[in-house]
Amino acid sequence: MLTAPQFSPAALQSVRARIVRATESADRAPGSVRLLAVSKQQPAALVRAAVAAGQTEFGENYVQEGIDKVAALAGTPGLNWHFIGQLQGNKTREVAECFDWVHTLDRERIASRLSAQRPPHAARLQVLLQVRLADEPGKGGVSPAEAPALAAAVSAMPRLRLRGLMCIPPPATGLEAQRRPFRQLRELMQSLNATGHALDTLSMGMSDDLEAAVLEGATIVRVGTAIFGRRPG
Ligand SMILES: *Cc1c(COP(=O)(O)O)cnc(C)c1O
Repeated sequence: MLTAPQFSPAALQSVRARIVRATESADRAPGSVRLLAVSKQQPAALVRAAVAAGQTEFGENYVQEGIDKVAALAGTPGLNWHFIGQLQGNKTREVAECFDWVHTLDRERIASRLSAQRPPHAARLQVLLQVRLADEPGKGGVSPAEAPALAAAVSAMPRLRLRGLMCIPPPATGLEAQRRPFRQLRELMQSLNATGHALDTLSMGMSDDLEAAVLEGATIVRVGTAIFGRRPG
């Protein structure tokens, strides 16, 4: 049966409560984990309803859909838009112009286009390197071994600000199995920082594994289904 998607403030509250509980059990400072609401494939009306419930950070995977929503919400101050999908070279200009963050940098060529295309009046584009950890078949991301060279290149780009790392591990069952790749990402960030970077952001954890990610140091969790329900289509 088809029904118009509806926003549930209770679902958003319960995700926020999960983050608070996980932050406490990890003995981390309150407020040290930001909630990114992943609104891909959801209509702008749902984003607007989430904004009314206090949500300010949104993640989009598809360039055209994302910029349409940014435009639809343009009258609302204080929103932050994060691009979290695979980025093609021919779509960098739209992303550089409309988004505040990119989580999925994995190629120097894409990074240099984004830096060149970031409008001069805008703040620097906040970027994360997507890292492909072991056992991730065929997705985007650099290997941990390639990360230092890309981090060095991106750090030198004038209109980008390298903030940290992001990963999308395959679904795993059980807290310990879920924590393993998140721990690897945190250790990779620590080793980059030991060589002179000052990275402060780990984007990791989704609807089914955000607790494991918070325990391993996530500073941004990306949550779609648990907030908005199942995506239409
Ligand atoms: C869709 C998506 C999410 C959200 O996933 P849910 O399981 O719906 O919470 C997070 N990150 C990325 C990169 C995504 O594509």
